Amino acid sequence: MSRIDDLPPLREVLAAHELNARKALGQNFLLDLNLTQKIARTAGALEGAHVVEVGPGPGGLTRAILSLGIRKLTVIERDARCLPALHEIAAHYPDRLEIIEGDALTVDYAALAGGQPIRVIANLPYNVGTQLLVNWLLPDDWPPYWQSLTLMFQKEVAQRIVAEPGSAHYGRLGVLAGWRTEARIAFDVPPQAFTPPPKVTSSVVHLAPRTQPIAVTASALEKVTQAAFGQRRKMLRQSLKGLGGETLLEKAGIDPTRRAETLSVAEFCALATAL
Ligand code: SAM
Repeated sequence: MSRIDDLPPLREVLAAHELNARKALGQNFLLDLNLTQKIARTAGALEGAHVVEVGPGPGGLTRAILSLGIRKLTVIERDARCLPALHEIAAHYPDRLEIIEGDALTVDYAALAGGQPIRVIANLPYNVGTQLLVNWLLPDDWPPYWQSLTLMFQKEVAQRIVAEPGSAHYGRLGVLAGWRTEARIAFDVPPQAFTPPPKVTSSVVHLAPRTQPIAVTASALEKVTQAAFGQRRKMLRQSLKGLGGETLLEKAGIDPTRRAETLSVAEFCALATAL
């Protein structure tokens, strides 16, 4: 294992603080610092950046991010058992690591950014990962308070985020991500890379905000995608009945016999505008 700092190896950290992974908190730790550095580097040049990491756990990814010349790193961790290990890292990097104990779903990220763009990097807890992403994708103000999101998901979720029309993975998440960002899968991570190993393969996804996404409201886009993909095998004239059906489709210039998964992001935006 490579050394990127003089801190004790992560396995020793886990043992010293009795950090046995808890499933309810989505805890699958990364102990290989080569891999955590690879994830951190996927975010782009980090020199001088303010990075936010959700769910640092024992701090493997935290240490990798800190080794890359960032100005400030803010971490948000729910499990109090991880805090002593994180404070050890903070002592090693004076004035650079800010530790917030709490639920990442309730944090005001725009306030945390304080008017300067942040970069978010995280090996996300699977149970809250999708909700966090949707929250980051849908602020009213755009361009958003973040400059990039570099996030680990289960591969199946990653495929839904980057899915194109016509793909079986294409759905609400793909439309929301495609509307506001350019999203790509950077690389896959096998189960054995984690302690303990999860059942499925994971993927690191990198998202960059589009400067000028099509001007529609998030709530209208959510409504049409929810209705259309709620009955994804039905024709749109049927699945969108509650939102105006054929009249709405005609207004948006879309053939009512088409199905949700054939519509481009631009066509979903046309529906949202027509609503
Ligand atoms: N970043 C570490 C790593 O890569 O080894 C840990 C990743 S582990 C998949 C997810 C982490 O998120 C755990 O440390 C867990 O305690 C934390 N977590 C779970 N739910 C959370 C929440 N709602 N808010 C903040 N942290 C949370």
